[in-house]
Amino acid sequence: YIFPELTKVPMSCCEDVHLVFLPSAGMGHLNPCLRTASLFLRNGCKVTLVTPKNTVSQAETNLISRFCSSFPHQVTSVDLNLVPVDPKTVQTKDPFWLQFETIRRSVHLLAPILSSLSPPPSAFVFDVSLISPLLPIIQNFSFPSYIYFVSPARMLSLFAHLPVLDASNPGADSHPCSFIGDFVKIPGIESPILRSSIPPLLLEPNTLFEKIFMEDSPKLKNLNGILINSFEEIEGEALAALNEGKVVEGLPPVYGVGPLMAGEYEKVDEGEGSGCMGSILEWLDKQGEGSVVYVCMGNRTATRKEQIKDIALGLIECGYSFLWVVKLKVVDKEEEEDLEEVLGSELMKKVKEKGMVVKEYVDQRKILGHPGVGGFVNHGGWNSIMEAVWEGVPMLLWANDGDQKIASQAVGIIGVGIWAEEWGWGSRQVVNGKAIAKRINDMMSNHSLRIKAAHVKEAARRAAATSHLIVQTLIHHWNKGN
Ligand code: UDP
Ligand code: UDP
Repeated sequence: YIFPELTKVPMSCCEDVHLVFLPSAGMGHLNPCLRTASLFLRNGCKVTLVTPKNTVSQAETNLISRFCSSFPHQVTSVDLNLVPVDPKTVQTKDPFWLQFETIRRSVHLLAPILSSLSPPPSAFVFDVSLISPLLPIIQNFSFPSYIYFVSPARMLSLFAHLPVLDASNPGADSHPCSFIGDFVKIPGIESPILRSSIPPLLLEPNTLFEKIFMEDSPKLKNLNGILINSFEEIEGEALAALNEGKVVEGLPPVYGVGPLMAGEYEKVDEGEGSGCMGSILEWLDKQGEGSVVYVCMGNRTATRKEQIKDIALGLIECGYSFLWVVKLKVVDKEEEEDLEEVLGSELMKKVKEKGMVVKEYVDQRKILGHPGVGGFVNHGGWNSIMEAVWEGVPMLLWANDGDQKIASQAVGIIGVGIWAEEWGWGSRQVVNGKAIAKRINDMMSNHSLRIKAAHVKEAARRAAATSHLIVQTLIHHWNKGN
């Protein structure tokens, strides 16, 4: 999507604005980082991308390289060579969370990088997971600092509200498992968040997840602003509650710059381990309009072995053709097992008769934008949700972990998807094929869902203009600071 009004921006006013971006691990964090950077690049700003090396997944490495070569005159990439961390000293088994912590422990290396940049940065935008370690470093610089938040405004509200909850329950110790009750009612937000929807690791004392959340949340106030991939018409209530000081006092402005758009640089090249895109599009072209169920659980969610056969059975039984993207490993570089070994040859044969199945990283925005796709089964990843919102594709949400129940609930409230709440956490509970087939049917046959998705698609296009205004206002503000 090209913003038409952008061509009218006098470039001379933006050339002097130099932004530094620092992402964290996983496509769910890298995509919104680069898409946010693109908003400013399209306005003529210069960007330094600080790249923590080495990345966890191949998908991240490929994307960073495509991004940098797409903006040769505007983007400079600087490596942040991570200090290796002994995994035994980190409370996590997840490679992406280990990387979050490794980056957190390496950010002291950033000070000389930031002071050597020329021209000096106008502003610094970094990942939500880096707040506490970065604050003491950036306080020695005069530029303003922002985070980009990778989840819905509803999740930001919970994150920001934690210190209030903690303080209002003085008897309990400072662990969310003690001070969070059966539900959390955040001021200004009507529907409460049930305890069963809270990210499970936040309720486990002393996990890395809990530690980072508790340490970082009170420090949101020290930032100059928060950029979030959301917009008024879908999350107006939460955005207002955050910006009106209802969630917590003293929060900096929360800028809804969504929907963040996928850029041309995201186009997956053939031969990049994703030679399947050509055949996927060819296959989709042969399907009827809105007839295909697209199934993809993000970039870091491996489908568990004990679940995979039932997904296959559900897809075969649902009666629709389907495009199923399977991940058997959390990290793509380790992906080697053949799906047929897991499913068995008979089930695999049936799957291939009724649909298409791939194991590679796909170009999701292309698939969601294809007229053949009529519904999207997703794990509640906020980036994926916003991409579906942009294309007007109804969703069936099957939360796996983390913030995904909160995101799924947000989709239910917006009315563009069905959250299969009774399925619990995908990381913990197995769902049978019949239930999966039934829920897919609920989504595909739901007329009002389609109408609402089409309506929100239009609203998303209007919101792009608001996002553009926010970006211009920020640029203007930074320019004055120069
Ligand atoms: N994605 C993709 N192709 C894939 C898997 C994922 O393009 O095969 C993209 C997807 O479009 C989204 C991101 O990777 O932008 C995943 O982020 P999300 O928040 O949806 O989920 P996460 O992977 O963080 O759980
Ligand atoms: N998150 C946060 N602060 C952090 C790290 C994560 O608020 O320091 C939130 C963020 O909203 C993220 C969610 O926790 O989406 C779950 O994080 P995780 O990285 O497990 O999931 P992802 O979004 O990468 O799939």
